[in-house]
Amino acid sequence: MSTDLIAKLTARLGPKGVLTEASALSPYLSEWRGKFSGNTPVAALPASTAEAADVVRICIESGARITTQGGNTGLVGAQIPDGEVLVSLKRMNRIRAIDADNDSLVAEAGCVLAAVQQAAADSDRLFPLSLASEGSATIGGLVSTNAGGVHVLRYGMMRDLVLGVEAVLPDGRVWNGLKALRKDNTGYDLKQLFIGAEGTLGVVTAATLKLFPRPRARETALLGVAGARQALALLHRVKATTGAVSAFEVMNRLAVDCVVRNVAGSRDPMPGAPFMVLIEFEAAHAEGLRDGVEHALAAAIEAGEAQTALIAENASQTRDFWHVREAISAGHRPEGAQVNHDVSVPVSKTPDFLAAADAAMQARCSGARIVAFGHMGDGNFHYTVMQPPGMDPAAFPGAALTQTVYEVAAALGGSISAEHGIGVARKTDLVRFKDAESISLMRALKRALDPNNVMNPRVLLAPEV
Ligand SMILES: Cc1cc2nc3c(=O)[nH]c(=O)nc-3n(C[C@H](O)[C@H](O)[C@H](O)COP(=O)(O)OP(=O)(O)OC[C@H]3O[C@@H](n4cnc5c(N)ncnc54)[C@H](O)[C@@H]3O)c2cc1C
Repeated sequence: MSTDLIAKLTARLGPKGVLTEASALSPYLSEWRGKFSGNTPVAALPASTAEAADVVRICIESGARITTQGGNTGLVGAQIPDGEVLVSLKRMNRIRAIDADNDSLVAEAGCVLAAVQQAAADSDRLFPLSLASEGSATIGGLVSTNAGGVHVLRYGMMRDLVLGVEAVLPDGRVWNGLKALRKDNTGYDLKQLFIGAEGTLGVVTAATLKLFPRPRARETALLGVAGARQALALLHRVKATTGAVSAFEVMNRLAVDCVVRNVAGSRDPMPGAPFMVLIEFEAAHAEGLRDGVEHALAAAIEAGEAQTALIAENASQTRDFWHVREAISAGHRPEGAQVNHDVSVPVSKTPDFLAAADAAMQARCSGARIVAFGHMGDGNFHYTVMQPPGMDPAAFPGAALTQTVYEVAAALGGSISAEHGIGVARKTDLVRFKDAESISLMRALKRALDPNNVMNPRVLLAPEV
């Protein structure tokens, strides 16, 4: 990469906006788990949309390609450069406007999710997206990955929470799609192109987000159930009888055992329960919520859908319940060779998925240990297969097991990526498991907007473009 490019970027952004020292670049070049690492001679940190557009133009003139990065919390390697110019939106972190009467907010791409949640709360509103990385993940990254999290059941994914997008296109033009309309039937919904595009169609610089009334009452319950079929019946019961379910998360026994074993300070909240369900309820006011929840859970026990139920009595117990759920990834990481998956199936097929996948894993790798957890209310499991105890990690057939997990999900009408995306990690699998017509349409879109493959060139559809 030419020194001329670095000089031009420095002239435009000033020394604060350009990083070239190895020590300054290093935090941008690997992700927290150490699964993906890369390299770049330069990172550009624009502080405005005009600067971001100029960065893209300077890169095009120099024949350089771009990898865009937000909070670097992505799980599929898409934000890590491999020789491209790294464009970080970190310095674009202003809330540009809040329109409480329109229930909307405009945030720059580098705003961290927690700051957006706080800005909404300060205006007596709710921005409902919530995930364990909310202290670092940025609006640009969340838009670009169509992030999900724990409240999808009630509020939808990022795709449902965005009213408008502003982006720098691969030719350096700025597209201002920062509308704040609930209804706009004037042709193709262009903002949706950038949502879930993983940075392959442009650099998102800002987004208009939907806000909601702030719930005044919350209840959190933890239930022990016999298995996924009972959990599904429980899901429908609590949805129908309370109308207040905002999260429905599940964890199998091994998921919790690994947390207790490997995450300091953790304890088992429900010893002996084969499968646990964490349910969050919310309502506009407290009146009737607790009674409704107690009534629904008692009926679920009566019907045999749940074996035991605890309702958090205070904020500290609520935190304890959520701690176990949020510590699951950290809990099983030290357990040897493993393969992780983020699959979805129709909600009605969730018990079938677990039964079929568990059986297929045992058939291919006897003694394999399964950690299954996540957003069952959305049909989404984080499904990890771990080596049998004592097996040589090198003998663990991880790649073959992954293909089998995907085949089981696909046979049930599911997806190989529910919410984490494709990135560089799953692009070969994408071609195998997504239908050819969809892949061809996606390629046509990429070619139309980015014919020279400037934006995130190795991500999602690369390198066939
Ligand atoms: C502990 C933990 C828990 C998580 N839980 C969830 C969860 O429950 N649900 C979920 O959906 N995800 C989850 N994630 C994944 C991750 O937080 C999301 O993918 C998040 O949206 C990434 O945001 P980011 O700002 O860190 O983006 P990055 O990681 O920096 O980038 C992710 C992708 O977005 C692109 N990108 C980033 N900014 C821009 C921009 N401004 N313009 C164009 N492209 C851009 C990158 O090129 C890359 O393709 C979790 C991650 C962690 C570490």
